[in-house]
Amino acid sequence: MMSLGGDWARAWITLSAQKISEHRAALNTLDRDIGDGDHGENLDRGFQAVLPQLDALPADATPADVFKLVATTLISTVGGAAGPLYGTAFLKGSVRIAGLTVLDGQAIVDLLAAARDGVVLRGKAEAGDKTMVDAWTPAVDAAARSHASGATPTAILIAAADAASAGALDTESWIARKGRASYLGERAIGHRDPGAESSALILHAAAESANS
Ligand code: ADP
Ligand code: MG
Ligand code: MG
Repeated sequence: MMSLGGDWARAWITLSAQKISEHRAALNTLDRDIGDGDHGENLDRGFQAVLPQLDALPADATPADVFKLVATTLISTVGGAAGPLYGTAFLKGSVRIAGLTVLDGQAIVDLLAAARDGVVLRGKAEAGDKTMVDAWTPAVDAAARSHASGATPTAILIAAADAASAGALDTESWIARKGRASYLGERAIGHRDPGAESSALILHAAAESANS
């Protein structure tokens, strides 16, 4: 199991890019049901743009350096709502753990909480509005509980990812109060929020890259 430093951060983002690519069509389909059908391609464009830049980072780049690069690249390459939202998440997460070369359990909890707070700051959605916040908030809560019970950093990430997936699933039964899906009223019921789903994919990538 790797320690959660710069190599892990790179592995996380590389695996996120791979998962987003694999799920590009599925994310577009979710977004076609309750939005404009571009969520998969938006995120795929952004994460593919990050990859060559990761290689250009110095070998001793910290996790914060990696996440800051992700933030600026997503903000500049992803059109639509998700680019600035994920960009702010990675930016706030980066600032929160600046200077650390290895993240312990508390730092992982802080990173995830700062990322979630960034999404909320940028998008003003509350829990239950059927957005990516509904994946991030259960993830943060599960991470905090897991850390409080003495779990390892990797186990904390696994708990966060599983909670994000459950949160994404929960969005299926709700109407939306933010984003394009909010125009649909009751017609959004029965459909999973695409941003919650992509958030769960990204958090699973964080856990898997720590657990390898
Ligand atoms: P667009 O709607 O501009 O096409 P995307 O399709 O890339 O952007 O992203 C849509 C996702 O963005 C939604 O599924 C939702 O999770 C998220 N989202 C939209 N608005 C907000 C918001 N105000 N706060 C949090 N997340 C939001
Ligand atoms: Mg869209
Ligand atoms: Mg769009």
